[in-house]
Amino acid sequence: MAKKYNYDLIAIGGGSGGLSVAERAAVYGKKCAVIENGKIGGTCVNVGCVPKKIMWAGANLAHSLDDARDYGFDIENKGFDWAHLVSKREDYISGINNWYHNYLSDSNIDELQGFASFVDKHTVDVDGKHVTAEHIVIAPGTTPSIPDIPGAEFGISSDGFFALTERPKKVAIIGSGYIAVELAGVLNSLGSSVCMYLRKEHLLRSFDAVLRETLLEEMLDQGINILPSTQISEVIKESDGTLSLCDNSGNKYTGYSELIWAIGRHPNTDGMKLEAIDLQLDDRGFITTDIYQNTNIDNVFALGDVTGRAPLTPVAIAAGRRLADRLYNNQHDRHLDYKMIATVVFSHPPIGTVGLTEGEARKEHGASVKIYQTRFTSMYNSMTRHEVPTAMKLVCIGAQEKVVGCHVIGPGADEMLQGFAVAMRMGATKKDFDDTVAIHPTSAEELVTMK
Ligand code: FAD
Ligand code: NDP
Repeated sequence: MAKKYNYDLIAIGGGSGGLSVAERAAVYGKKCAVIENGKIGGTCVNVGCVPKKIMWAGANLAHSLDDARDYGFDIENKGFDWAHLVSKREDYISGINNWYHNYLSDSNIDELQGFASFVDKHTVDVDGKHVTAEHIVIAPGTTPSIPDIPGAEFGISSDGFFALTERPKKVAIIGSGYIAVELAGVLNSLGSSVCMYLRKEHLLRSFDAVLRETLLEEMLDQGINILPSTQISEVIKESDGTLSLCDNSGNKYTGYSELIWAIGRHPNTDGMKLEAIDLQLDDRGFITTDIYQNTNIDNVFALGDVTGRAPLTPVAIAAGRRLADRLYNNQHDRHLDYKMIATVVFSHPPIGTVGLTEGEARKEHGASVKIYQTRFTSMYNSMTRHEVPTAMKLVCIGAQEKVVGCHVIGPGADEMLQGFAVAMRMGATKKDFDDTVAIHPTSAEELVTMK
């Protein structure tokens, strides 16, 4: 009998989420298509995690070169070739793009290039061509937000940052989240003069205080200028080509060669004709889903950044794989647990964090919260003029002292937390941490020796 639909599953968006659900569904023998109107791999591969991490690694090298003198090396840093790094980075990304094209083809997944919009709940229009599927997964990601103020168009977003072919001299960064902090660190380390404008008081406002306070102190120490409680209300392009910023208290800040907006991202749903299927959105425009990635339409699912929950690559991947397990492998209750997701901010030094902040724990668990905290200079940094701080906090609850939060800032924090996140998901207590024999000499050993 002829099949009713062209595909078992169509994923709209060839990023982390769309690719993962299609890959896993194909493993279960389902006929799948991925529709992508940009570059395969989505945000993470092309203008997110991957190019960011390469720039961060370059920035770390700049710090290592400074430190090398303190370790006795007679070296002279003759400068940094931004264009060289960008060109190698983009070659690397092209390799990943090509790998995906081949992988999809080898997995018998059709790659449809074009913009997808809904015709009905089983039919998608791809640049004028209609394709049908039993299940449709919406994973179009998000786009950087630009504020609606005069002159905002003179600024760039993180996408524009990755398009820069030379190092900007003097950069203003507006925002206080992951991207603002990460790009400020990279630019400063690679020699740009950087000023961050925060509309409120704190960097990384939702993070544990020990992380944001230590990072603020360190960024200031590294020469990044940070202006809190400063709301930019206008951008002016001066006759010499530089940008000036005006705030809503009447102050003017001048001489910028670049302005980067890093104020959050909004869902990529414009033009997708979601109204054709009456798809439910939340008040910010993100697609409403339950923990199973179900939308209000029975055969339509959504996952990844467009759902507005924990917008991280491994989250989109995990949600996609679990959805395919549930739909096609009889794992009826398979879904992603959105709690206890570890995350790293690739600042200088990096932050690794998982679980409740001290503030959240005190709100939820009151007096049963016990905090263990330490701050020190790593052995590596005890040899260098630049004494980068390391700070750690464990948030524990109840008589058993179950560890519900683990927060680290310092060199190596990015690689430290993955294993601790496993232990915490399994319900580890402070005693389990203490009973674990330390690895010496490391910074991570402090997490199992804290008093
Ligand atoms: P995306 O990866 O954005 O993929 C969506 C795809 O859908 C895009 O390719 C888009 O072109 C396509 N699309 C959109 N609309 C349509 C349409 N109508 N038709 C066809 N195709 C469409 N996360 C981490 O975990 N670690 C990090 O270090 C990290 N760093 C980041 C750094 C930056 C600068 C940014 C911006 C993000 C970073 N992220 C990081 C977040 C991570 O990139 C996202 O969480 C992840 O890419 C989300 O995957 P997704 O599949 O939901 O969306
Ligand atoms: P974030 O949500 O992290 O931060 C944006 C912040 O900008 C807001 O929290 C807000 O902070 C501030 N803001 C919002 N509007 C304005 C405004 N009009 N003017 C000034 N400031 C404003 O968003 P990002 O764009 O930095 O990153 C998007 C997501 O991508 C992140 O949430 C993260 O999940 C993911 N990502 C992950 C990375 C990683 O894993 N290492 C790296 C980069 C991105 P406040 O309210 O305090 O002013």
